[in-house]
Amino acid sequence: MTVRNIVILTGAGVSAESGVATFRGPGGLWEGHRVEDVCTPEALAHDPELVHRFYDERREKLAGVMPNAAHLALARLDREWSGGLLLVTQNVDDLHERAGSTRLLHMHGELKSALCAACGVRAAWEDSLPPETECPNCGTPALRPDIVFFGEMPYQMERIERALGEADLFVSIGTSGAVYPAAGFVQTARYHGAATLELNLDPSAGSLWFGESRMGPAGALVPIWIEEVLAGA
Ligand code: NAD
Ligand code: ZN
Repeated sequence: MTVRNIVILTGAGVSAESGVATFRGPGGLWEGHRVEDVCTPEALAHDPELVHRFYDERREKLAGVMPNAAHLALARLDREWSGGLLLVTQNVDDLHERAGSTRLLHMHGELKSALCAACGVRAAWEDSLPPETECPNCGTPALRPDIVFFGEMPYQMERIERALGEADLFVSIGTSGAVYPAAGFVQTARYHGAATLELNLDPSAGSLWFGESRMGPAGALVPIWIEEVLAGA
């Protein structure tokens, strides 16, 4: 089959070799916290200091990490692939853009962005973000981390669904397949006739849906796969 349109989904595993902890690390914790304590609207309402501080720490840590071979190879594909390409990341770090990817969207938000709970504006954000910071657009002291929490709607779902409908190839990299709706993208892509490939350290919850699965670290597997795609293999 000739591949023209590619959709790629990445998760925390693609940034693991850069030194960014994955979601469900040892004991099912994210950087020492239960996911429900830092990743839900209820947590934000109940303990805004803790939730804001958690994402402040994650944002600060970005300064000390670098894109790895997987991010760089994906950026090379972005530059050299003349067909359709959409890189959908669940990651909230900025390593894909720092590597040079441009045909990219962050479906779960971004650490370097703030969201106004009052007017909905999203503003680029580099510094710490204490609770009750004033919105640059409407002035309400309602800025929060621009992170899609459990129970909230991910960004740009319509654009993602459209791209999946047109994809000839869907590739999932470094994601556990545990978080919906992203975990269901493989089924949508298959339904529309795309070939499907998974690159992950170990079999994910959705492995059986993929036409092909390759197991290993993203930093090794992704450059090899991209070499193959660009060579037309
Ligand atoms: P996850 O932590 O649930 O799963 C990570 C997957 O990557 C696992 O299946 C693991 O086996 C695999 N993995 C680990 N190291 C790898 C490597 N070197 N190479 C390839 N695969 C590797 O992550 P997820 O599925 O992305 O979970 C979802 C949520 O976690 C997302 O919503 C995301 O916003 C959030 N999150 C983001 C970051 C980040 O921005 N870097 C970090 C942690 C969590
Ligand atoms: Zn506002």
